[in-house]
Amino acid sequence: MSLSPSLWTIPVSDSDAAAIVSRAQVLFERLRGIVSQHQNVRLASSMAAEDMVVIDAIARTGVPISVFTLDTLRLHSQSVALIDEVSRHYGLVIERVLPDAARVDDYVRHFGVNGFYESVEAKEACCHVRKVLPLARALEGASAWVTGQRRGQGVTRSALALREFDAPRGIDKFNPLHDWSEEDVWAYIHFRHVPFNPLYREGYASIGCDPCTRPVKAGENLRAGRWWWLQEDSKECGLHVQK
Ligand code: SF4
Repeated sequence: MSLSPSLWTIPVSDSDAAAIVSRAQVLFERLRGIVSQHQNVRLASSMAAEDMVVIDAIARTGVPISVFTLDTLRLHSQSVALIDEVSRHYGLVIERVLPDAARVDDYVRHFGVNGFYESVEAKEACCHVRKVLPLARALEGASAWVTGQRRGQGVTRSALALREFDAPRGIDKFNPLHDWSEEDVWAYIHFRHVPFNPLYREGYASIGCDPCTRPVKAGENLRAGRWWWLQEDSKECGLHVQK
């Protein structure tokens, strides 16, 4: 498929092999450091490019970090297929955490199946049912969790630290790619032949649920295609809110 030149494309990095390996070593040490302090660590993977890097690093280091993904039942088919592909590729279990069916039914009755387009309240209610509550279930019993978030992903993440305290859950949260650039992520993916979502080749710089994600133009904020009908400061789904 030929792409419009105005769409975002996967960045090309000028990092050489030594620089990529050096960054990877830092990442590996971060993961080892996390599991040396915590017994039950879980990676919340949305199967984004960043998560693919962290999964690859988990597989290479053998650190005991379990992986789960929130299957909202509104994902692109490419994202669903990637879950199985990555499981096979690394021989690891990726737990699919589903929303509660009764709560989804309640949401649809109240707001409509695509009610999230109508208001911030309806969008937040949908994310709450399909993401926030399942995340809470997935993290029950965890002593820490890990994400693939980066500072460069937008205004809501510009102050991201390696280690945060998830106050509502009372556990540590780690962002081992917090200081990686978009180019760093893709350099690692290409260098290590890491599987990734084919939607990135179609201008999707950030991938969430199918109806709430669209391709972005070159030069736009990477998350501009997520909930594009909302203001920039509303572009989180409630998973990473610290209260
Ligand atoms: S991203 Fe969209 S479809 Fe997915 S949970 Fe949030 S509002 Fe619902």
